[in-house]
Amino acid sequence: MTLALLLGGVLVPIAHASPVYSFPVQGCKYTYARYHHDYPATDILTHVGCLFVAPTSGLVDEVNRVDRFTWKTDLGADRGGLSISIIGDDGVRYYGSHLSYISSKMVPGHRVKVGEVMGRIGVSGDARGTAPHLHFGISWPTRAGIWWVRRGELYPWKYLDHWKVGKDLSPAQSVAALEKKVGTVPKRVGY
Ligand SMILES: [Zn+2]
Repeated sequence: MTLALLLGGVLVPIAHASPVYSFPVQGCKYTYARYHHDYPATDILTHVGCLFVAPTSGLVDEVNRVDRFTWKTDLGADRGGLSISIIGDDGVRYYGSHLSYISSKMVPGHRVKVGEVMGRIGVSGDARGTAPHLHFGISWPTRAGIWWVRRGELYPWKYLDHWKVGKDLSPAQSVAALEKKVGTVPKRVGY
């Protein structure tokens, strides 16, 4: 939404009157590298217990409340541990994993508002034993269980760079273009 003030006959936009996007980690310091192994995503390094918030308003998509990961099986579907994905009102899917806690309100179909607390950062899944981080992925909606798309298809740091300073930047066009190019359920590549 764009809001503007009429000042002396000149329309002046009010910055961030109604932010569409939020940085997904709140309440703690964090860093993130412009690199991710094998496929596009970002690991946002922070501390256990920090807040994972909705990066934009939308509907809860898939929720995994049980950490089934073991190195013996190393199943792709389990690597995220406790995780949540949402489908934003912008049509983009956002995914956060390795959580330690998920709010009881987060069930598929539940409506979240931008900045709403969805869970807390942890070291579940294959993050066990690593520096605590939120794995953050941007993709498009699929049917349930397509974890190799859900984990991330588009490099997120350009958007994170904007959201952390309160600027809205939407990945919707880039995500739509990429989906068109590779298909909604492409063959899994990499790890
Ligand atoms: Zn990751």
